[in-house]
Amino acid sequence: MDVCFENVFITPAVEAINVIQATAEENDRAASFDPHHGHRETDAGQETAAQSPANDPSASASPAGSAETPRTETAAEKNPWSAWAWLGMCKNSSRKILNTIPNIVHVDVDAFFASVEQVLNPKLRGKPVLVGRGCVASASYEAKFRGVKTAMGFREALRICPKAIVVPGQYEHYADFAERVRRILETYTPAVETAALDDFYLDFAGTERLYPDYEATLRRLQAEIRGRTGLSVSVGAARTKVVASIASRLERPRGFRMIAPGEEENFLTPLPVEKLHGIGHVHAGALAERGIATIGQVRQVPKPALQAAFGEALGQQIWERARGLDGREVLLPSTPKSVSRETTIEGGTIDMEFLGGLIEYLSERIGSTLREYGKQARTIGLRIRYVDHFSAHQTARISKPTNDERELLAAAKDLFGKLFTRRVAVRLVGVSVNNLETDKRQHELFDTNANRRWYLNRGVDSVRGRYGWNAVFYGKGLELREHYATKPNGLVLSTPCLSR
Ligand SMILES: [Mg+2]
Repeated sequence: MDVCFENVFITPAVEAINVIQATAEENDRAASFDPHHGHRETDAGQETAAQSPANDPSASASPAGSAETPRTETAAEKNPWSAWAWLGMCKNSSRKILNTIPNIVHVDVDAFFASVEQVLNPKLRGKPVLVGRGCVASASYEAKFRGVKTAMGFREALRICPKAIVVPGQYEHYADFAERVRRILETYTPAVETAALDDFYLDFAGTERLYPDYEATLRRLQAEIRGRTGLSVSVGAARTKVVASIASRLERPRGFRMIAPGEEENFLTPLPVEKLHGIGHVHAGALAERGIATIGQVRQVPKPALQAAFGEALGQQIWERARGLDGREVLLPSTPKSVSRETTIEGGTIDMEFLGGLIEYLSERIGSTLREYGKQARTIGLRIRYVDHFSAHQTARISKPTNDERELLAAAKDLFGKLFTRRVAVRLVGVSVNNLETDKRQHELFDTNANRRWYLNRGVDSVRGRYGWNAVFYGKGLELREHYATKPNGLVLSTPCLSR
């Protein structure tokens, strides 16, 4: 091993990979002779145990379990029915269960763009669908099963799968579907991180009492997304992000894999190295040349050798990820400092009714966003731009912080009256709010209208959350719907080239 270290530090990357190969071979040989070789891999297991003091009852059987320090029994554990138990047990028991459930869940929509196309257009269902321009951005599983891969040129894809139907893509709709999936996920746990458009990480730590049957909950989540959006998702659960995401991608479509705590290494061992984050085709090729094909084999390479071959940071990352270790937490969405919605009007308009309708729609969107984040706004702003590029912007303070769209609309219309002074068509209108504060609504004693609107808004939000934005709208919205196409999450105001 010392020799290996010397080599590593003196020589550049290629040599280091040779060292990797030599070490891997040596370990392979050792493995074939030493029946207890498996136990040599437990350094990471012990690290995991050190991070989370092995409370898993099954861990006592594993070698890592021996590192466990004896723990004194707390009052709550001695008598689970005592008052202490009820006051203090939450903390103890949730920590206890925390390590026994794979709390990080990765949810990934299968063949996202192509699946949305199939949901929107029933004629495409069950058929090979390719989405993209020039190359495949997304392929339905019917096409994937015939060998089409993402990022393949259309010419090649159509040679492999001549019956494939090519659609250009409707990105507005994709964002909406992603949003709908996220909202469903948020009904299960507040800790939902959007990693990519159709890729989510959830953290179920602390929800053990809410979901005694964890697996059934995750299966219900999967079924609910399917039932309410028509999209199939793959689910992977583990204690770390890296293992959860590998698990979810293993058996697509409609994959479901839970990796029990302590099983991470066994799960990773036979998988090809490409499954690890940070190892691209080039690195995988370099490793393959040295006879390293699986994650288990990577694990046998000493860390300094990996760092010399791939650089300090990536080497460290590969070393950790090969052991299923991943310090990344599920990031909670940050709350906004301001909210703005604006839209351009093709060709411009001076139709006051139409502009009023647009301002109403934009105010509604802002009110709904504010309520979603539990915020109220103190300041509102309105921007208009005329077709001759002259623009005007003004802000006003709202007498009482609010997230009620009727109040926002009244303030926005006031501003519009002040700003729209020229006889020129308007090309852009935008509403924004800032100076946000937490929604601390007190029951309005004298303003019964405010109370009714408060309940009305929540009711409308919940109907829209379930049946889409267009399930319910105010009177002016009807007119807007004659001008604009509708999408599940509202109106298609601007038409990007891809959504034609
Ligand atoms: Mg996906």
